[in-house]
Amino acid sequence: MAPRDRVERAEDTIDSGHATGPAPAPFTSPLKEHLRRRARELGLDEIGFTTADDLPRADYVERWLAEGRAGAMSYLARGGPRHRPGLLLEGARTIVVGAARYQRPRSEPSHVAAYAQRGDYHPGLRKALRPLAAELRAAVAGSATKICIDAAPILEREAAARAGVGWIGKNTLVVHPEHGCYTLLGLILWTGELPPDAPSVDHCGRCRRCLDACPTQALTAPYQMDARLCLSYLTIEQRDAIPVEYREALGVRAFGCDACLAACPYGGAALFDDAPLLPTDPALAGASLRELLERARDRFWKSFRATPVERARRRGFLRNLLVAAGNSRDASLREVVLPFREDGDTLVAEHADWALRRLDEGRESAGASTSTTKGM
Ligand code: SF4
Ligand code: SF4
Repeated sequence: MAPRDRVERAEDTIDSGHATGPAPAPFTSPLKEHLRRRARELGLDEIGFTTADDLPRADYVERWLAEGRAGAMSYLARGGPRHRPGLLLEGARTIVVGAARYQRPRSEPSHVAAYAQRGDYHPGLRKALRPLAAELRAAVAGSATKICIDAAPILEREAAARAGVGWIGKNTLVVHPEHGCYTLLGLILWTGELPPDAPSVDHCGRCRRCLDACPTQALTAPYQMDARLCLSYLTIEQRDAIPVEYREALGVRAFGCDACLAACPYGGAALFDDAPLLPTDPALAGASLRELLERARDRFWKSFRATPVERARRRGFLRNLLVAAGNSRDASLREVVLPFREDGDTLVAEHADWALRRLDEGRESAGASTSTTKGM
């Protein structure tokens, strides 16, 4: 199905598609058109412009943090108010939002979430954003720029929505009509001024596929996510045991989760093609659970340094892999899992014990069904 067809079909379900902000008439300028062309040449799939005025939804984010729905991600409350771009670059007047798509996996779940299957994506995004920032500075003598990718305290999804790059979907991610949720964002703050683009319009309509697909009901309502229930949070950000009640839901995922991205009807077949700016690393995308377990055991830092997996640390990634191994019901993994039961780290040992019991349950139920079949 062509991307456009998907858009039209989903629009059929719209209640009253609402804009994510006031919708001024699109306004362009020669510099903007030049930057759009340059962005495409540099490998970005979308670029949008908005003002550096305070970003919307600050109250939602504050409530989200105050209610504890960010779990242990206390760093989100640090670094100043995230809705005020001017705090990151004094005198900022414009935000340029660049989006680069990445390849959508052929199947979900995968052991490593799709965004992380390309290793460290920051250099790729930076490589595209730096020349654009240089062009902005050259356009207005004495102006300044600041590139923000991930780590800077700014509401980047809100900036993307206001810059017309994509709307914030019911799965809380930025949804682009053609690239779906499979984009990574990079921002340039600039002290110069450009006319803003029209904000994106929400095309989720009556669709709720992402909510229905979430294995843990972490999407507690449309546009609401409780990170404490989210498999991405549980496998990447939190450092303790995976709560027992969520282990089965993890399936064979060992780092992150793509269920609410994969469920989204936006994004076409072209997403299965690899993306030149953010190419897939076969060592992360194609590795089996056995290979990942062995690499995490023997050479974690050598294998995963400077990749998103590094964030889980060795013990966290091993913890996740052991749960995934148990859920795989692949009895051949028993020999790799067994020694971890004696691991000096009680977190790893406990998850190995759980995995072994689950693998044994699988063997017993397979045996039971064989004997039932024989008795028929
Ligand atoms: S990443 Fe997975 S667990 Fe988290 S909200 Fe999306 S579907 Fe649910
Ligand atoms: S899957 Fe979720 S984010 Fe995508 S269109 Fe449907 S409701 Fe919106």
